[in-house]
Amino acid sequence: MRILITGAAGFLGSHLCDRFLAEGHSVVGMDNFITGHPDNIAHLMGRPDFQFVQHDVTNFMYVEGPLDGVLHFASPASPIDYLEQPIPTLKVGSLGTHKALGLAKAKGARFLLASTSEVYGDPQVHPQPESYWGHVNPVGPRGVYDEAKRFAEAMTMAYHRFHGMETRIVRIFNTYGPRMRPGDGRVVSNFIVQALRGDPISIYGDGSQTRSFTYVDDLVEGIYRLFLSDRAEPTNIGNPGEFTVRELAELVLRMTGSRSELQRLPLPEDDPKVRQPDITLARSVLGWEPRVPLEEGLSRTIPHFRRLVEEGDQAARF
Ligand code: NAD
Ligand code: UDP
Repeated sequence: MRILITGAAGFLGSHLCDRFLAEGHSVVGMDNFITGHPDNIAHLMGRPDFQFVQHDVTNFMYVEGPLDGVLHFASPASPIDYLEQPIPTLKVGSLGTHKALGLAKAKGARFLLASTSEVYGDPQVHPQPESYWGHVNPVGPRGVYDEAKRFAEAMTMAYHRFHGMETRIVRIFNTYGPRMRPGDGRVVSNFIVQALRGDPISIYGDGSQTRSFTYVDDLVEGIYRLFLSDRAEPTNIGNPGEFTVRELAELVLRMTGSRSELQRLPLPEDDPKVRQPDITLARSVLGWEPRVPLEEGLSRTIPHFRRLVEEGDQAARF
């Protein structure tokens, strides 16, 4: 197959490029580098089965030749990124999704949307099954991301129903692993980098809020299976292991051997109090479940940040 991946230079997009190439497909990567980096795909440049197009997907998308699949992953994803880029975030979720769907329709390609657990907002149902409609503040600061993704889901289902297109929607829960940016502001990258530098660990609020963390390889496996399946309705992919933010901080401190102190900072507005995927559907329809527990995933992720922190510290010295 020939697959277009938008957001290819990002954390998840670059891992998906690797996976599709490893399965013998050819990949066209597209990105405008707003939050991604060429380093993430540098190892793919020059391969005959990989092509890169620098392009903002909110503008008309043109790809020469046939396409069998379009995976739409372009979007700022970290809260600090989408709070800094509220309008590009709304545009890539709405206009960008429209353009990517239009291209997939023109090529007769299957379309997969990267959606998010954020569509559940600050959930009042726990854990969250796909049938839950969510509890989102549309006009709060996080609304730019949550509502863009909710619109993107609605647009995807409309193309499926009205145009009879083959579409898939993955609701991704907090995912971590190598290639996350050290400064991207998400909790796993922040805590590891702070621990390695001996800086205070920034706990927002009292740290009792929970998240369920998925290792990137598990996520990619789930997405690959979903893409090949015939399920059009949204599907949760996430690790149901649920941890408080404070538990995560303590685990990172223990695993890095750091003596950083815990520091309490204000809780961001509309920060969800709990989050845990119900993966009954992924288990039964895709035969998928996560294999990498948090401690093992962190042990594969810490060396990536250790290298970046050491390189950064060295660069700062010269
Ligand atoms: P990321 O910021 O590392 O990657 C996003 C990529 O999209 C970047 O390379 C960025 O430059 C690119 N991009 C953004 N706007 C663009 C535009 N207009 N045109 C072209 N490229 C554009 O984030 P990520 O963690 O890899 O997330 C990828 C996707 O997965 C996003 O759609 C995100 O909403 C979704 N997601 C991620 C998580 C997670 O835990 N990482 C959770 C839920 C959903
Ligand atoms: N968080 C924190 N310290 C940080 C970064 C995040 O305590 O340095 C908290 C944040 O308030 C949230 C959780 O960790 O409750 C996960 O945050 P993240 O930005 O990784 O993703 P979210 O699930 O909020 O989109």
